[in-house]
Amino acid sequence: MHFTPEKLRISDQRMKPFIDPDEIWGILNAVKPDKSRVRDVIAKSLGKQRLTLEETAVLVNSVGTDLFEEIRDGARKLKDTVYGNRIVLFAPLYIGNRCTNNCQYCGFRVSNSEAIRKTLSDDEIINEVGALEDNGQKRLILVYGEHPEYSPDYIAHTVRLVYGVRKGRGEIRRVNINAAPLDIEGFRKVGEAGIGTYQVFQETYHPDAYKWYHLGGKKKDFDWRLTALDRAQEAGIDDVGIGALFGLYDWRFEVLGIVRHANHLEACYNVGPHTISFPRIKDALSLNIPDRYETSDEDFKKLVPILRLAVPYTGLILTARESPDVRKEMMKYGVSQIDGGTKLELGSYSDSRNEEQNLNREQFRINDARSLSEVIDELLTNDYLPSFCTSCYRMGRTGEHFMEFSVPGFIKRFCTPNAILTLSEYICDYATGEVSDKGWRAIEKNLQTLEPGIAQSTREKIEKIRNGERDLYF
Ligand code: SAM
Ligand code: SF4
Repeated sequence: MHFTPEKLRISDQRMKPFIDPDEIWGILNAVKPDKSRVRDVIAKSLGKQRLTLEETAVLVNSVGTDLFEEIRDGARKLKDTVYGNRIVLFAPLYIGNRCTNNCQYCGFRVSNSEAIRKTLSDDEIINEVGALEDNGQKRLILVYGEHPEYSPDYIAHTVRLVYGVRKGRGEIRRVNINAAPLDIEGFRKVGEAGIGTYQVFQETYHPDAYKWYHLGGKKKDFDWRLTALDRAQEAGIDDVGIGALFGLYDWRFEVLGIVRHANHLEACYNVGPHTISFPRIKDALSLNIPDRYETSDEDFKKLVPILRLAVPYTGLILTARESPDVRKEMMKYGVSQIDGGTKLELGSYSDSRNEEQNLNREQFRINDARSLSEVIDELLTNDYLPSFCTSCYRMGRTGEHFMEFSVPGFIKRFCTPNAILTLSEYICDYATGEVSDKGWRAIEKNLQTLEPGIAQSTREKIEKIRNGERDLYF
């Protein structure tokens, strides 16, 4: 998607910090919602335009009024008309939990002497990836603490290692990264290993709050983190993920911080964030944060529809930190990617003895420990189309969500057929009994929604998959 020339004029903001807390609070304190303003803002979003900070504040400040139902309806409509019923699935793979930082919310922080430290060996990575492939995973996000051991060369090495693992009919086709901010050269090295998205969450966009929680190590530097994805862009990684950790500061401020970050990236690089994440703080070993800013379920259910409307072109990720019920509800308002079959303990995917969470080996407690098959089962029951598609990124159609969003018919031409093909593979190779039956029924139903020519070529590819061919896509 191309942005307007006015926005490009501020491209001299590259690599410069862009958060002014007084500006954000000023807007939040000044904006008064009223019916016609709220409706105009929703209409703008449904017209596929990102909202400004003021417009986002109109939605935020409508919380608690009877206008809020209209905001939810707007988010639902945007999700249905733009994204359809596809949900993209992935799994996290923790590579190492050594860390030199001292983030007060994280079980991996250096001051947590009870944490059992581990970095997977190459053989262990291969075993873990094999186990993930045996479950049917195709997309992973690799997660690392911040430590000299996890250099850009090492991260690039692990990415290549993961792509090289082939177990049975399994393979990993997209490796995303969640790791510390790098310098430009570091990002270049990691980018060259063929990653999908590089995610860095700002945690909190408020500089003072940031100081309260980040007490040691390189992560103390707010601006270095804030400009991380600028450096990624400079290094040629145009697929980046942003996010905030909800519960550190006022959620309303964080929502505007995220929107400001999206608008900074658009203005400077002509491309906004590929994904937005909004983790909430979960129980961790010797968690050390006040509950003053705890984001309740109630508030969470408000901020997700607001984010959906505020940045309408971006994928929204909701992980197994949240319970199955919360995840199910948030999918109605636009969450488009979830993890399934998640395990956080290092080495636990290939160790079937390990079913219980053990917090001195893990970053935080998860609330959805279902297997990938159970997650898929529920998605199918609720009329979603589970997808393992990695096509756009491998076809060089980067910024896939922009295309989904801005190219008319893109979803019906590419996303739905590719979701159907990857689900067909999953059913043939990994599904049993009821999931398999439900899956084929969902495929048939979704084929009916396609234009006849596309449906026909999708059917031909499904036949090839049934006959043993793999990795077919549009
Ligand atoms: N170490 C890198 C960093 O800090 O950016 C990357 C990985 S960190 C393991 C991934 C994310 O987990 C963090 O950015 C933070 O938002 C989130 N996180 C940390 N502690 C958490 C907790 N107790 N509950 C939920 N999410 C948490
Ligand atoms: Fe380390 Fe990341 Fe945890 Fe902070 S959030 S302690 S940087 S692993």
